[in-house]
Amino acid sequence: MKIKQVNLRHLKMDLLYPFVTSFGAEYDKDFILVEIMNEDGLVGWAENVAMPTPYYNEETVKTNWHMLEDFLIPILLNSEIHHPDELAEKFAHIRGNYMAKACLNMAVWDLYAREQNASLASVLGGTKKIIDVGVSIGIKDSIEATLDVIEQRRAEGYKRFKLKIKPGWDVELIDKVRKVFPDIPLMADANSAYTLADMNLLKALDDYNLMMIEQPLAYNDIIDHAELQANLKTSICLDESIHSLEDTKKALKLGSCKIINVKVGRVGGLTEAKKIHDYCLERNVPLWCGGMLEAGVGRAHNIAMTAMPGFTLPGDTAGSSLYWAEDIIEPEVIAENGTITVPTTPGMGYEVSMDKVKKYTLYSKTYR
Ligand SMILES: [Mg+2]
Repeated sequence: MKIKQVNLRHLKMDLLYPFVTSFGAEYDKDFILVEIMNEDGLVGWAENVAMPTPYYNEETVKTNWHMLEDFLIPILLNSEIHHPDELAEKFAHIRGNYMAKACLNMAVWDLYAREQNASLASVLGGTKKIIDVGVSIGIKDSIEATLDVIEQRRAEGYKRFKLKIKPGWDVELIDKVRKVFPDIPLMADANSAYTLADMNLLKALDDYNLMMIEQPLAYNDIIDHAELQANLKTSICLDESIHSLEDTKKALKLGSCKIINVKVGRVGGLTEAKKIHDYCLERNVPLWCGGMLEAGVGRAHNIAMTAMPGFTLPGDTAGSSLYWAEDIIEPEVIAENGTITVPTTPGMGYEVSMDKVKKYTLYSKTYR
C-alpha cells in the first residue's frame, strides 16, 4: 500500500461520569482521531490515546500532534508498505513517543486488514470469537458508592473488577469490598502512587486474594517492583513501566511482575503489542488489554488485539454505554454478560459515524 492522505481530527467528547485515578479526575475525552487513505481511496482508522495532561505518561495531545505532523506523517506519506510491521522499522530511529507512533501503526493495520478483506483480529492472529471483559472503577466519593457500582456491574455480568487505589484509599476499601464480595475476581491499580516505603501497606493487600496489584510503584521503575514482588504473594502487573518487548523481557527477567497489561498505545502500536504477546504466550505469562478511556475506534482495536490467544485475563474494554452518551462508531461496542463478540467484518469491524465525528471535532487538518 501507499498512503496518499492522512486526516487528523481533534475531538472532544464528554464522559458520562468523571473518572478518578491516583493522578486526578477526567471529565471529558480530548483526543486525536486518525484516518489514513491509500491510493485506491480505502481508509484505515485509529485513535490516539495521549491525554491532554502529562500525568499518566509524558505524552500529551499537543506533543502527539507535533510528532505526527512534523516527523511521523512525513515518513508515512507515499512510502511503500507491504506489511504494517515495516512501519515500526521506519519509525525506529525516532525515540519514545510511543502513543504518537502507535496511532499510525494501528491505522495501517486497520487498512491492511481491509485490503485483505479480513478482520483486524484475524490478521493479527486472533483466534477468539468472543472475549471476556472487566470494568475499571475509578476512585469514588465513598466506599458505599464503590460497592454500589460493583453490584451494578456484577449484575451486568462483567468478569473482573479493577479498583483504582491511592494512599488513603486502599486497604480499608479492599477490606470492605472483600467482605461484601468475597469471591469476585478483584484487582487494584495504583497508577504508581506508592514507593518501597509503603511495603507493609502493600503487603497487607496480600490477605485479600487479589488477582494482581497493578503498577504500585514508580511509572518508570522495574527495580523496586522486583524487590516488592519478592515480598508479595499477590502478582504484580506492570502497566506504565512497559513500552516494548525489551522492557517486557527485562521486567520478567528481574522478577518485577508476573502479569503484563498491554496497552497498544503505550507500546507504540499493534506490531510491538503482538511481539510482547508472542513472547509472553510462549512463557505462559498472562496478559490482558488495558484501557485508556477510548472512544469506539480505540475500543475496536483493543477488541481485535484481545482476540489473540495470549490475552488470557479479562481486559478493561467495557461496552461503550458505560462511558458515552453516544459513541462515534456503529454499532457501538456492546458487552453482554461480560463478553464482547469479536467482529468478523473487514478491518476493525465497526463503521465510523462521520456525523458523530463531525459533531465532536474541534479542529482537523489534512496531510497529503
Ligand atoms: Mg493501569
